[in-house]
Amino acid sequence: MTSMTMADWQTLSDRINHVAPSATLAVDSKAKAMKAAGVDVIGFGAGEPNFPTPAPIVAAAAAAVRDPRNYRYTPTAGLPELREAIAGKVLRDSGYEVDPSQVVVTNGGKQAVYESFQILLNEGDEVIIPTPYWTSYPEAVKLAGGVPVEVFAGADCNFEPDIDAIEAARTERTKAIIVTTPNNPTGAVWKPETVKAIGEWAVEHHVWVIADEIYEHLNYDDAKTTYIGAAVPAVRDQLLVLNGVAKTYAMPGWRVGWMVAPAEVAKAASKLQGHMTSNVNNISQRAAIEAVSGPLDAVYDMRAAFDKRRRTIVAALNDIEGVHCPTPTGAFYAFADVTALLNRPIGPNETVFANTSELAAALLDEGHVAAVPGEAFGAPGYLRFSYALADNDLIEGMKRMKAWTQA
Ligand code: GLU
Repeated sequence: MTSMTMADWQTLSDRINHVAPSATLAVDSKAKAMKAAGVDVIGFGAGEPNFPTPAPIVAAAAAAVRDPRNYRYTPTAGLPELREAIAGKVLRDSGYEVDPSQVVVTNGGKQAVYESFQILLNEGDEVIIPTPYWTSYPEAVKLAGGVPVEVFAGADCNFEPDIDAIEAARTERTKAIIVTTPNNPTGAVWKPETVKAIGEWAVEHHVWVIADEIYEHLNYDDAKTTYIGAAVPAVRDQLLVLNGVAKTYAMPGWRVGWMVAPAEVAKAASKLQGHMTSNVNNISQRAAIEAVSGPLDAVYDMRAAFDKRRRTIVAALNDIEGVHCPTPTGAFYAFADVTALLNRPIGPNETVFANTSELAAALLDEGHVAAVPGEAFGAPGYLRFSYALADNDLIEGMKRMKAWTQA
């Protein structure tokens, strides 16, 4: 591999220099590189279901590869059949009608996040981000010239943002707010009252709502996803719903996400995408049609498996001295408070860690366990564990973490 030193004139844009790398992907790629080098690493890093994509979806993709219709460019906003299927899915799951013209199919949910801020924000516009947040939100806001405004809510209130705190953060530059339930990284499913209050607040103050619903089907115990567009119908004219097949159908690598937004917003997203990536890979779109319009049986089976792992990991984490993990009721993340592991000697080398970034790095290097540090989510003192990995790996990973902390 060649490395080069940049000459003085070879500067990069301020825009890119001010953006942090994706911490979730950084942890994941380091763990995978260690594995490739022969180190037996247990990865609780990226939220990536370990299940194979269900067979009928794979079969649809296999058929699509042989169909010459898929060899050409197709409409930027997505195959008409997929946009229709997504509109049908919104009615099935969220209970309200949208027109296929409101749907834009994107390269993963992440592109829908990126496009939302590019098309809504002017320089200096503020976006309220309930914190802990998914690591890419503030960076996507910054890339659009916006200013992320964090509103923190801790474990004591189920990591649910308080409407008074949100209102206190509002200024005349507040342009949008992000709603993520079930939540990444906390695994919290926000109460209907919380979601409703945010929707009504947004309507009253003319604030766009970006609702990331990618974990919608992953609820446990008696928790249920509250769809903000259903809870507050008046918000639909200012609502961008983001979603995708990655988590629901175990399809993270297929890169199919979407945005459902007011038609004018969807048109703007499609205009932007026309200069970026054009249509999403047609093979993946054909697979997504099968996924989105098919039954949810396989999803419920995976959910039952995640539920079992959820109980196992929460018990195992709380069994480690210095770790406190509330029981999450959604997504596939456990978000553990590890502040008691900081600022005292930990691990076989008796290292004192000042923050969870250092702790997570050592846990990976020495304990061969990958977790994402809380700093990546605006929540220092926490570690995020994705439990979308195989049961035996989960048990082994927890054993290692306990042994490492107590060595
Ligand atoms: N969204 C998942 C996570 O938070 C996948 C990695 C990423 O795109 O950030 O781990």
